[in-house]
Amino acid sequence: MRADKLLSHLGYGSRKDVKRLLKEGALVANGLTVKDGKVKVDPDKDELMLYGEPVEYREFIYIMLHKPAGTVSATEDTRDQTVIDLLGPDEVLFEPFPVGRLDKDTTGLLLLTNDGKLGHRLTSPKHKVDKEYRVHSKLPLTENDVEVLESGVKLDDGYETKPAKVRFEGEKRDVFWLTIQEGKFHQVKRMLEAVDNKVTALKRERHGSLLLDETLKPGQYRELTEEELQLLM
Ligand code: URA
Repeated sequence: MRADKLLSHLGYGSRKDVKRLLKEGALVANGLTVKDGKVKVDPDKDELMLYGEPVEYREFIYIMLHKPAGTVSATEDTRDQTVIDLLGPDEVLFEPFPVGRLDKDTTGLLLLTNDGKLGHRLTSPKHKVDKEYRVHSKLPLTENDVEVLESGVKLDDGYETKPAKVRFEGEKRDVFWLTIQEGKFHQVKRMLEAVDNKVTALKRERHGSLLLDETLKPGQYRELTEEELQLLM
């Protein structure tokens, strides 16, 4: 990667700052000063020193966000606040993107990363990754609704959903957990509509092995722990 890109990735400021820093001779690669930002360096193979300190480079970032209602799962939007707007400059430098989409009014677990491979694996239907939602519905679910939702339901566009799982906690039948392995547009809302019901609140609590850290308030985020990352990989 270009030396100037590497430095800006590491948070050493704007393009201008990085240019100046290189001009000052702050970066040394394998014993040679790199003054030209266009020079290619390999953080895995080259010995890189910045101001005499070894450069610790990492390529990827993995962030767990408790998405609040009112933000959109996009990297840019002309009208609404995006999930990227919730991050700080140190995270934004890595150019993360949301892994899958949650509706603007949906809250809960959203993974943000710049690791395209992992992002693809967690969202591709081929990989059948669980997504578990806590659903509040307008009406309590009947036994028949549960059967229909679990075995597959025809959505408004004729698409038949794959098997899903419904779980209750306690007596309430209008609050339940729905696990699906697909991610069609508004899927949970449309599944409920297909059984003449309506989602009144939706929160994702799990994506694959990753559970929402309930100590994160809506809008808060943290990086994944090494253990969480290992389980996802
Ligand atoms: N299903 C929906 O309807 N909305 C979401 O945000 C996620 C799943």
